[in-house]
Amino acid sequence: MIRPPGFAGAAFGTAADGDLRRDHEARQRIAADLGIATDWAYLNQVHGASVLAAERSGNAGDGDGLVTHTSDIPVMVATADCVPVILEGTDAAAVVHAGWRGAAAGVLEAALAVLDAAGVDVQRAAIGPAIGPCCYEVGVEVAEQFPEFVAKTTWGTTSVDIPGFLAGRLEGIEVWRSEECTFTSVRMNSWRRDRTEHRQVAVAWLPNN
Ligand SMILES: [Zn+2]
Repeated sequence: MIRPPGFAGAAFGTAADGDLRRDHEARQRIAADLGIATDWAYLNQVHGASVLAAERSGNAGDGDGLVTHTSDIPVMVATADCVPVILEGTDAAAVVHAGWRGAAAGVLEAALAVLDAAGVDVQRAAIGPAIGPCCYEVGVEVAEQFPEFVAKTTWGTTSVDIPGFLAGRLEGIEVWRSEECTFTSVRMNSWRRDRTEHRQVAVAWLPNN
């Protein structure tokens, strides 16, 4: 797992950590390493902008952002090119799954709004490994959603910078960025590269105390 420095409860998995949605043994091992509960809450990720609060571990329903208010319930999202974001605040933490559709729909803003409405002061955000502007080739219908974040792939075609777009929505918050591109990093699952069912998991939690 990748631990962003300065965060109390944030980790981004790599392919080697296993698919923690399904692999209970791997999750048990990782949870023990992180010192957190084994059973985590997760979402049916639908590339939208719904943000839910986890009331128990297990499937929280359809959505792309998940908030926890208790150390008993770590929250996770699974990605393989889409952008995982962890938000850490006073007495709450959240994970967000943002591909271009979710980013355009405002899933990160929705998560910030849910936390704000709950009285949570978001102090830090971590943007995990995702496909970068170096490799995220898109058509005009996607590029036109992110006019200020259009870029070029290393092979010269049109791309967009979704992690950069998301970082731009986090003004006033301390942001850590992995900058690792899932498409080129062989230690990461990449849907575009491998058409794989495997995902890496981002997990957020509140430390005990
Ligand atoms: Zn790349």
